Amino acid sequence: MDLIIYKIAQRCNIDCTYCYVYNMGDSSWKSRPKYASIEVSSKLGSKIKSYGIKNAMKSITIELHGGEPLLMNKKKFCKILDTLIQNSFPVKLDFIIQTNGLLLDSEWLSIFDKYRIPFSVSLDGPPKYADEVRVDFKGQGTTMQVLKKLTLLQNENKQVFDTLFSGILSVINSKTNGKEITQWFLNLGFKNFDYLLPDGNYVNPPFKNEEQKIAISNFLKDSFSYWVNLGNPEIRIRYFEEVIKTRVGKKSGLDAIGGDLSKMCVVESDGTIGCHDVLRICESDITGDQLNLNNSELGEHSEYYGLKAIQKPCEKCLNCEYYDSCGGGYLPHRFDGRSFDNPSVYCDILYDFFGFIDAVLNVELNKANVL
Ligand code: SF4
Ligand code: SF4
Repeated sequence: MDLIIYKIAQRCNIDCTYCYVYNMGDSSWKSRPKYASIEVSSKLGSKIKSYGIKNAMKSITIELHGGEPLLMNKKKFCKILDTLIQNSFPVKLDFIIQTNGLLLDSEWLSIFDKYRIPFSVSLDGPPKYADEVRVDFKGQGTTMQVLKKLTLLQNENKQVFDTLFSGILSVINSKTNGKEITQWFLNLGFKNFDYLLPDGNYVNPPFKNEEQKIAISNFLKDSFSYWVNLGNPEIRIRYFEEVIKTRVGKKSGLDAIGGDLSKMCVVESDGTIGCHDVLRICESDITGDQLNLNNSELGEHSEYYGLKAIQKPCEKCLNCEYYDSCGGGYLPHRFDGRSFDNPSVYCDILYDFFGFIDAVLNVELNKANVL
C-alpha cells in the first residue's frame, strides 16, 4: 500500500449533481465528524510509522480529501499536517490535495508551499455545460468563481502556483464535445488535465440511453484525436497517456484502468479504514466500516474486505484482447447489485476506444516510418 486517502472534511461547500459522496445513495458521511481531529491524525501518523517500518518504506503519499478539504480551518489544517509528520517519522509523508477550488486563496497557496503540497482542481469545462452539474446549494453554477480564483492566485504568486498546481480533473459530460472541451482547457492555459468517466454501475447506469452512451464514446475519441494531432508533448492528458502506455506493453497503476485498489486505503474523519470510497456507490459489504485506527493496522483492509477476490476479473475480461489496457475497467463500475464479477458498465465504450487508439497509433507510426 502506498497511498492513503485521508478524508479530513466530510462536508462540501457545493452540491455537484453527480457527486459519488453525496448524491449516489451513500449517507455514511452524515454520521462522521465534520472534520478529522488531531487525535485521529496522531493515531494515523503512528500507524503509518509502524506500517512504513514493517514494510521498509521510506515514504508514503497522503491525499487530503473530502468533501472539500479546504473547508477545514487553516490553523487546524497545519496542526493536523504537523501531527501526521511528527508521528509518522521516520516515514516521510508526501501530501497531495484535491479541491473544488472555490476556497483557494493566497494563504492556502502559502500553506501548500510550506508543506510542498501539489494541488489539483475539479473543473468540468465551460459554464454553459458545467454549471448544470457543478452547482452550489442554490443550484447556481460555480465554474466562473473557480476560474477567477485560479487566475488571481496565478497572478499573485506565479512561481509557487506553477510549481504546485498539478492540473485539472474533469468529469466527462455527455452533452459536450471532446474536442471543444479540450480546446477550452488549452485556451485557458491549462496543459495538464485528466478526464474521468462519470461514476455509475449496472444498478445506477451512468448513461440514461444509447444516445448518451454514444456521446461519451465520441467525447473520448474526439478529444484523443485532437490531442494526438496537436503533437505537443507539453499537453498532458493523464488517462490517454496511461492507456497509450498499456498499448505499448507497459503497466498502468491508474485505478480507472483496473489498477490494484489494495495499494490504497481510505481513512475517514473518525478513523474508519476502508477501501476506495467510490465503492460506496455500490451497496456491498466491501463498503463496511468495521476497521478503525483503534482496532487495526494499516494494510489489513485489503484482506479483511476480500479485495483481491472482488477485483478478480470476470471471464469476459480475461478473454478480452484489450484486457491489458482496460483491466476490466474501474471496480465501482463493475457492480451489478450483487457482485463485481462483470465487465465495466462502460465495456462497449472502452472496447471501441482501445480499438480507436490502436488505429490512431498505427497511422502516426506509419507517418513516422516506424511501421
Ligand atoms: S466538489 Fe467534489 S465532493 Fe463536493 S459535491 Fe462536487 S464532486 Fe462532491
Ligand atoms: S473492454 Fe470490456 S471486456 Fe474488455 S477488459 Fe474492458 S470491460 Fe472487460
